[in-house]
Amino acid sequence: MKIAIIGAGYVGLVTGTGFAELGNDVVCVDIIEEKVEKLRNAISPIYEPGLEELIARNSAEGRLSFTVNHADAVKDAQVIFNAVDTPSADDGSVSMKSLYAATQDIAKALAKLPKSSQFYRVIVNKSTVPIGTADEVTKRIAAHYKGEFDVVSNPEFLREGQAVHDFFHPDRVVIGNGSPRAREVMKTLYQPFKAPVLFVDTKTAEMIKYASNAFLATSISFINSLSELCESLGADVTAVSEGMKLDKRIGKQAFLTAGAGYGGSCFSKDVNGLLSIAKGQRSHLPILTATEKINKQQRQKIVAKVKKLLPNIGKKTIAVWGLAFKPGTDDLRDAPAIEVIKSLIASGARVTAFDPVAEGNARKLFPQVQFAPNPYETVEGADLLVVMTEWDEFRSIDRKKIAKLMAGKRMVDGRNIFDRKELETLGFKYEAIGR
Ligand code: NAD
Repeated sequence: MKIAIIGAGYVGLVTGTGFAELGNDVVCVDIIEEKVEKLRNAISPIYEPGLEELIARNSAEGRLSFTVNHADAVKDAQVIFNAVDTPSADDGSVSMKSLYAATQDIAKALAKLPKSSQFYRVIVNKSTVPIGTADEVTKRIAAHYKGEFDVVSNPEFLREGQAVHDFFHPDRVVIGNGSPRAREVMKTLYQPFKAPVLFVDTKTAEMIKYASNAFLATSISFINSLSELCESLGADVTAVSEGMKLDKRIGKQAFLTAGAGYGGSCFSKDVNGLLSIAKGQRSHLPILTATEKINKQQRQKIVAKVKKLLPNIGKKTIAVWGLAFKPGTDDLRDAPAIEVIKSLIASGARVTAFDPVAEGNARKLFPQVQFAPNPYETVEGADLLVVMTEWDEFRSIDRKKIAKLMAGKRMVDGRNIFDRKELETLGFKYEAIGR
């Protein structure tokens, strides 16, 4: 099929590259020229394992191209994916600025086409959008484009850090639209995937995305709120979580890892988005208000634990391992490490930091932080170490070596990756979450 992707970000770029790899002809359009230029040279603007190789191969084989021109992208496309950003507005509601601007771009580009190119198009909302958006997009496209088209809601569930894998192995594909013609096109497009395909109406599809993210975020806040009780009672939250996950109704993959809390561009944004959507309907979702509140508190708990181990942190050196909101990505959007570092700096601490891939992005945010090239140099002379992202290389670190390098053997393990007994034997004062 011929496919256009509007927005070459985490979702658009992975989706476009993935569909090209499956043999489709894909044109990705983005408004950031620098990004498009990089992509034309087969350089991925984001860190996502396996993605750059796929971009290079599919570009070289002529199935994948990049442009800043919407008309070029949509000209021949049977399917047009809108994958632009839908961030939180200041009041927590979903900002639709980019999505409606992109909708307008699509509509105007289609309207300018000669009659011969006005064939049936499927316009897909891939971005996470409030319930009812597909109807609004339909109106906005129809205001310009007089050819035949349907708007489908096809939400995305990929996880950053595993996005390429998730594209090819989705748990499910949700296709929202009752039109048999639109369903047929989407069915053909997703035919190579082994995943179950769920056909629903547009509003249900839009809600499935919010419901999924809100549930996952709530699971994390649930275990984090229990972690405090575990600490005061002397139970181990990681073992509690393991015990829970063996219950098939809860499941092995359940999001029940206590720690510094969730971050990233989606969970908080979508929880707040759903709260705002509910408010618009005079409906209340107190469970989600609690989810967000607990998550915010979790970050400050890390700072409180630092101050417990190091009461006078002014002028002390604190090493931070991990900046990205989770391993496998360089994405710093709403990363818990950012808030923790800001609080430490505000309390007068000197911060050194290391992240295997997010350093470039972090340098722009924290000119006053000293970045080290590896975990060992980060802790040299440090009075305390905070672990904020559970990168695998931290798990296999030489504990004796870090004990020797540090000026003070203190650790706040914000991701519960170390063993308390082992570190205490090495002389560490160790604080974790719920253990
Ligand atoms: P992103 O910010 O990484 O990418 C969006 C891209 O769209 C940017 O490159 C931007 O320049 C471009 N853009 C904006 N307006 C445009 C326009 N008019 N024309 C062309 N390009 C335009 O965002 P993302 O993380 O890929 O998220 C996109 C959507 O997918 C959001 O709704 C998000 O909630 C959802 N989503 C994200 C993830 C994730 O893990 N990142 C997962 C599932 C769903």
